[in-house]
Amino acid sequence: MKEVELDFKKYLSSRKLKYTPERRKVLDEVLNLRGSFDADGLIDKLRSDRKRVSRATVYRTLDLLVKLGVLRRVAIGERASFFENNLQWKSNGQLVCIGCGKVSEFEVPAQIDGTLRGLSKRHDFRPQNRTIEIFGYCPDCHDKSLRALS
Ligand SMILES: [Zn+2]
Repeated sequence: MKEVELDFKKYLSSRKLKYTPERRKVLDEVLNLRGSFDADGLIDKLRSDRKRVSRATVYRTLDLLVKLGVLRRVAIGERASFFENNLQWKSNGQLVCIGCGKVSEFEVPAQIDGTLRGLSKRHDFRPQNRTIEIFGYCPDCHDKSLRALS
């Protein structure tokens, strides 16, 4: 059993909950997902893999995984219902448009990650993940705001 699975099991039993096959399916799927996802996307994925997990179980399990720290909620645009895995080191950074909510990804240069790891080390901190998000206006929204000004 993976460490995260053991942690989840322990966490569930501390809350008098069982590590059911359904919760296991959700956890497995979540650990394989890259990038951000929402509950509906996860439900579709489980269905296409012919795994039977009720909607309520998916929602509840995601909630528990957030509380355990495996996942975190992320807001993309106006929707705050996305999740990201805290355990994967993401290779990409994101450009988030505060005008229309569009998110584009870019590859974070290795030297930036080197700097961030060095910085963590100086604080005796063991990094598991990091996010790099740049908020601003995408070309479409930028043009629109310029047009509004003129
Ligand atoms: Zn935009």
